[in-house]
Amino acid sequence: MNKRDYYEVLGVEKTASEEEIKKAYRKIAIKYHPDRNPGDKIAEEKFKEAAEAYNVLHDPQKRQQYDQFGFNGPMGGAGGFSGFGGASMNMDDIFSMFGDIFGGHGFGGFGGGGRARQQQQRGSDLRLKVRLTLEEINKGVTKKFKLRKDIACSHCGGTGAEDNSGKEQCPTCHGSGIITHTTQSIFGMMQTQGVCPTCHGTGEVIKHKCHECGGTGVTKGEEVVEINIPAGVAEGMVVNVPGKGNAGPNNGIAGDIQVFIEEEPNDTFVRDGNDLIYNLLLDFPTAALGGDVEIPTIDGNKLKVKMDSGTQPGKTLRLRGKGLPAVQGYGNGRGDLVVNISVYVPKTLSREERQAMEHFRGSDNFKGDKQTRDSIFQRFKNYFS
Ligand SMILES: [Zn+2]
Ligand SMILES: [Zn+2]
Repeated sequence: MNKRDYYEVLGVEKTASEEEIKKAYRKIAIKYHPDRNPGDKIAEEKFKEAAEAYNVLHDPQKRQQYDQFGFNGPMGGAGGFSGFGGASMNMDDIFSMFGDIFGGHGFGGFGGGGRARQQQQRGSDLRLKVRLTLEEINKGVTKKFKLRKDIACSHCGGTGAEDNSGKEQCPTCHGSGIITHTTQSIFGMMQTQGVCPTCHGTGEVIKHKCHECGGTGVTKGEEVVEINIPAGVAEGMVVNVPGKGNAGPNNGIAGDIQVFIEEEPNDTFVRDGNDLIYNLLLDFPTAALGGDVEIPTIDGNKLKVKMDSGTQPGKTLRLRGKGLPAVQGYGNGRGDLVVNISVYVPKTLSREERQAMEHFRGSDNFKGDKQTRDSIFQRFKNYFS
């Protein structure tokens, strides 16, 4: 099934405010809520679709990434840029989100009058920084990290229970997973529901807590994680690796790793988007006579490029497609290699060289023509305006 645009799903403009997005989602969620449409598969799909759209659009960071990259944003799996495309939510997540949004606004009637749901807890995300060379960015790279993070407790197998002691009914919510508050408001008595803080909505608590992890099911441990960084990334981008972060408490869902990209300065090239700029210091005889020069490329090769006779300093050449690749999934092809030409004038001269130069000093041909003078003036003017 083709994914529909999130804004289209919620029926809002791209410029919609957070409040408008919330309102739109609320309307759709009420209409297609499974409690109102039992057994209706289409309604369920619409309910899920709206939840996913809301989940992305209500979060300013996710929304910005979606606006910029669409479904193919750099949020995907290890190296694979699956983006939001693969990130569909399960019903537990949706009901949990639904409760978070509407739970506090007299919306307690929903959820089937106390739906005890097996809510899994999620581990927290880990953030890493990785510093890449332009060569690594050009090809994409796999990096290994040794991480200290929450891992499933080996003593209890992540359950948090000592000796398989099992679970008993939660004393706070008496097994419903939900607590109800009744408050007085200007509209009269209002009932609000929330997830039970003791059992996190499961309705059960551990009988005897594991002595290693204290009942959480997680302990600190080390893990070596391999992360594929796709080609074409740039300083400030974030590569999201789902499920490799901290383990979720009590065999819950693991968090993500967010890899923040940093770029190492390069000695040969300056990056400008996906273009690379190379400064060629041309020798004076080749500038005057013309001839072949070698231009290095980011993949370590050299390109032979012909210089015209009479090449002026400040001239630029654009070698198409010899820059950096666009990040997989958006952008087109590769950037260019822009060669910016300077001409080297010798700082010292031998006797013969000096004699030859003295000979040319008198020549009007060496004094520069009007066309060149005008073009330099134009460049100078453009630079300062
Ligand atoms: Zn344990
Ligand atoms: Zn409880």
